[in-house]
Amino acid sequence: MSKLRCVKGMHDILPEDMPKWHYLENCYRNLVSDYGYEEIRTPILESLDLFVRGIGESTDIVEKEMYAFEDKGNAKLALRPEGTASVIRAFLQNNLEALTPVSKLYYIGPMFRRERPARGRYRQFYQAGAELIGIEDATADAELIGMAVTFVKTLGIQNVNVQINSLGDPETRPAYRNALVQFFSKKKEQLCNDCVRRLDTNPLRILDCKVEACSIAAQEAPNVFDYLSDDAHSHFSDLQQLLSLHDVNFTVVPTMVRGLDYYTRTIFEIQGGADILGAQSTIVGGGRYNGLVKQLGGRNTPTIGFAFGIERLLLLLGDNAKESVKPTVFVAGVGEGGLERTIRVSRQLRNCNFKVEAPYKNGSLRSQLKRADKSSAVVAVIAGADEALQNAVTIRNMQNGEQQIVPLDELEPKIRELM
Ligand code: AMP
Repeated sequence: MSKLRCVKGMHDILPEDMPKWHYLENCYRNLVSDYGYEEIRTPILESLDLFVRGIGESTDIVEKEMYAFEDKGNAKLALRPEGTASVIRAFLQNNLEALTPVSKLYYIGPMFRRERPARGRYRQFYQAGAELIGIEDATADAELIGMAVTFVKTLGIQNVNVQINSLGDPETRPAYRNALVQFFSKKKEQLCNDCVRRLDTNPLRILDCKVEACSIAAQEAPNVFDYLSDDAHSHFSDLQQLLSLHDVNFTVVPTMVRGLDYYTRTIFEIQGGADILGAQSTIVGGGRYNGLVKQLGGRNTPTIGFAFGIERLLLLLGDNAKESVKPTVFVAGVGEGGLERTIRVSRQLRNCNFKVEAPYKNGSLRSQLKRADKSSAVVAVIAGADEALQNAVTIRNMQNGEQQIVPLDELEPKIRELM
């Protein structure tokens, strides 16, 4: 029988990797809470329609990458490919708007896209994201981008490059779109098949096609800044000024577009670690999506957000960046009633917040100490019958083998001395 393996492009995250995950997730939770964000958890499965309407029918994500299926009751469902559409659905469904005029929500969780697997690109991956709902001023854009950059720096990742652009508003987008269609129609033979199709469906995406011939064809393409409304122009220039108050160095990249249709005005990416991540060096992507709340059935509500790929960040983190693991205390039992004593002493120690390993069946002291060694215990507590008569145990320093008898009511401080 062939061995069962997890699905291509998906991974087990093993216990040895968890201290890094916990470190990163805790840094993220602490930082975004300091900016007033609260956590939201939405289901991994949503109705397919949410993503088709929210992300856009002609995006690669919806067109090619989504895990969509019909369940046994013929409901059309999809594994979420990103977090924003779900957060906005939850915002509307639960009427969060009624609670405060501004909602600041963050999430951490798995996303699913059927992409070609590569280093830093998986079919199940984790995102940590944030959404700031209800403010249209560039102060919100600047604070959110500043928060993302601060997070990367808190993790010790230096040398990142922040790229920003404005995609303008839905009212001016058609003129820019037409200019692109006119421009690229003349260069049709240079474009890849996907981009020839995008000419009809989503011409902006031609600008960020990774095929070399398409990027060459795009070099002289019309510039988005010639098509921005006055309001969008001043929003973008306000943003640039405000970013310096957040100590963010940035580059304006007028050809940057992002893979989701819902963006309006500001979009941004943080790039870093190309030596490790290669083509997957976009570690965070985000932007403003002023139309999405309305598109999903709510009122016109300006919103901006971002999402980090956690695996990508982890690939860039040094080995020191991990949560410290508590040292283990091993409780061994010897003599008549030894196993029962280990249970009692273990409970006493866990109540004092120690991490405790104990045997599950009677065995020789030698074999129990061997297990203590294997579990990297720093202290072993030996609950023997003789000591039990004096309400005491023996504690053993696992580094040097030194032992002492300690009354049970002095156990906690004595163990702490050895840690
Ligand atoms: P997006 O939702 O496409 O804007 O992506 C936001 C971030 O999620 C990217 O910058 C990556 O860090 C991460 N990401 C997106 N797709 C993948 C993937 N297939 N595998 C791993 N990380 C991903």
